[in-house]
Amino acid sequence: MSNKILITGAAGFLGSHLVDYFLNKNYLVYGMDNFITGSLSNIQKYLTHNSFHFIKQDICETFNFNYEIDYVLHFASPASPIDYLKIPLTTLKTGSTGTENILNIAKDQSATFLLASTSEVYGDPLVHPQNENYYGNVNPIGPRGVYDEAKRYGEALTMAYHNKYGIDTKIARIFNTYGPRMRLNDGRALPTFIRQLINKEDLTIFGDGSQTRSFCYYKDTLDGVFKLLKSNYNYPVNIGNDQEVSLIDFAKEIIKIGGGLNSLTFKSLPENDPQRRKPCIKLAKEIIKWSPKVDRHEGLKKTIEYYLKENN
Ligand code: NAD
Repeated sequence: MSNKILITGAAGFLGSHLVDYFLNKNYLVYGMDNFITGSLSNIQKYLTHNSFHFIKQDICETFNFNYEIDYVLHFASPASPIDYLKIPLTTLKTGSTGTENILNIAKDQSATFLLASTSEVYGDPLVHPQNENYYGNVNPIGPRGVYDEAKRYGEALTMAYHNKYGIDTKIARIFNTYGPRMRLNDGRALPTFIRQLINKEDLTIFGDGSQTRSFCYYKDTLDGVFKLLKSNYNYPVNIGNDQEVSLIDFAKEIIKIGGGLNSLTFKSLPENDPQRRKPCIKLAKEIIKWSPKVDRHEGLKKTIEYYLKENN
């Protein structure tokens, strides 16, 4: 009997890679999505797979889920600033009502549940690098608050289900992840740089570019999520790459990989843009024996090659 898993957000960037990952491990995979930010093309090739069942469903609605499952990966949520600024109320609802609906499925089926949380729960952090004991510095009423607070509420709800109903829950605090199938117009720094590189435009730096980010190759993130799902640890764990880079150096790195033809252009910093972002991954190393394997330069080269090929 194969293991059975429900993946919400299955038509998105990470969700569709998770479908692939678990099909390769011979799981029976139920993918759920309403395509609000994801796309059918991400999962098209799995639709004819015998072990994949797709369910088109808005997780905020009331619905019945009548399949037996052992695991739930809850990844459905608008995830990039462009999306959640456009659909702020849907973002809050997906993180709250939507997460509760999916937790109820896990509860009814006694399935293990993993929440895709985010480094954004740390907001514009005053502690560096960010470890899981840090409570964060989030502005609830700022433009990013709808996403950050939805995820913080999702974590609270997940812990409450664990404590009240004893269901086996995990919380992955995922840091910036990149790779094939990102949407290049989603407003995040890395996809935007790659889009500008491909279109032979200047790469846009907000502020002076001294703000830092830490980027994790998607294959490493998937391995981290899998190991956490299989662990017996119920508290939040950071999943991210701790190679920190300033955005200006990062843009230059991308330009170099692309052949050195693009220039930089500068714009003013958006409100509440985090100044520094770097995960402390000590807990992940200890608890789930995970650390990222793919060096940023190598991951970037592969990702840029993918998009150059796709663009031709
Ligand atoms: P994505 O936008 O590509 O995928 C999200 C998917 O969820 C989309 O396919 C979308 O259609 C679906 N969805 C959203 N609301 C829904 C709803 N109400 N009902 C059904 N489906 C719905 O984003 P992503 O980058 O793949 O992120 C996936 C998850 O991982 C999100 O929860 C995000 O917060 C988390 N995460 C991602 C990153 C990253 O770097 N990509 C970092 C931290 C956390």
